[in-house]
Amino acid sequence: MNSGWVVEHPCPQCGAPVQLSEADRVLSCGFCRVRHLLMAPGFFQFCLPPRIPRDDIFFVPYWHVRGMAFTCAGTAVRFRVIDTSRCASDLAFAPPTLGLRPQAMKLRFAASDQKAFFASRRMEARDLLLNADAWQAVDSLSRREHVWLRELIGENCSAIYAPFYYKNKTFYDAVLDRPVHRIPADERADDLKGSRSPGPSITVVPAMCPQCGWDLEGEKESCVFICRNCESAWESVAGSLKAVSFGIAETGESGVLHVPFWRMQARIDGVSLESFADLVRFANLPRAVRPGFEQQRLSFWAPAFKIKPNVFLRLLQQLIVLQPDLAENTRLKNLNLSAANLPKSEAAESIKIALAGLATRKNEFFPLLEGITVNVTDSRLVYLPFSTSGQDLVQSHFGFSMERSAFDFGRKI
Ligand SMILES: [Zn+2]
Ligand SMILES: [Zn+2]
Repeated sequence: MNSGWVVEHPCPQCGAPVQLSEADRVLSCGFCRVRHLLMAPGFFQFCLPPRIPRDDIFFVPYWHVRGMAFTCAGTAVRFRVIDTSRCASDLAFAPPTLGLRPQAMKLRFAASDQKAFFASRRMEARDLLLNADAWQAVDSLSRREHVWLRELIGENCSAIYAPFYYKNKTFYDAVLDRPVHRIPADERADDLKGSRSPGPSITVVPAMCPQCGWDLEGEKESCVFICRNCESAWESVAGSLKAVSFGIAETGESGVLHVPFWRMQARIDGVSLESFADLVRFANLPRAVRPGFEQQRLSFWAPAFKIKPNVFLRLLQQLIVLQPDLAENTRLKNLNLSAANLPKSEAAESIKIALAGLATRKNEFFPLLEGITVNVTDSRLVYLPFSTSGQDLVQSHFGFSMERSAFDFGRKI
């Protein structure tokens, strides 16, 4: 993700300042070459520093969210990439968004500060964005028609604390050092009380395999880290590393790129979709339902990487229809692996969107969307091989493709 914000954090090994972006989960020190993983329970919290240090700073939380937004309305699934900030507090003086801030200011991870107060977050990011009013800014067409489902997928969500101070009945933005709100003479100002701490801070651990101690491999924004030594995969869950079940789809082709997807088993309440036969009927696929289809349990698939939302939606649908059932192994050693940067919790949220895209009778299915619940009972990271053909990456077994440019674009979401 490239939001323009730069985060600065000292290397835990040698203390050299390292610059990161907001979504980076790997801290790689250019000085001592040691790599660390950054973990937080839920989301990361940052502070914007005041332009001039003061002893009476009051930090107000904002949500900064960037990701893919999907809207099911009318008989269509619409999508776009969003990048938005919203005030997470209801303090009257605080501007509703972070607006344009000097990009020269460097963010730092939020931590307790005895010279500052932190206002509490009164609203969670998803609640703030996924309500009907806020969504109109995301999808302007939703002003005019009923929206059956709003979903954010693959979003990077961080809390950014912006500094303010109060002087002579006026609230000042301490980044710009400009007044933002004057209190009329006969009124009282908001009471600026908060906590000295913004809540749990980050955990920084060496990028080492918990099983064998070898270097873990991953890109800056990866959510799954690989150990090529003991051939294991790890993801950060609530501040610690947990093993990820994975498989490599076997291929006879050489020189391929292995691209990660989540394969999920799910219990879906509210619509009858258990077997492949159910899917053939649901999506009116041009196939005769054979007896075996009734027994074939349906797997749901989602890219484990960010990509242009139109391609993401197409891949969701293609893979469910294909139901890949390939021989797999777990030999990682010499493979060319593409990074996974979309966690399985996000993949789970894509199941409803996939169904919305596939449903033949959208006018009948969309009103059911809100009442449908999806419980993912099992998930596995499956690497599918792709070869390069001109501007495209082509899947070796099934021949479907994705544009290289859409894939590269996904790294910026
Ligand atoms: Zn260092
Ligand atoms: Zn290992």
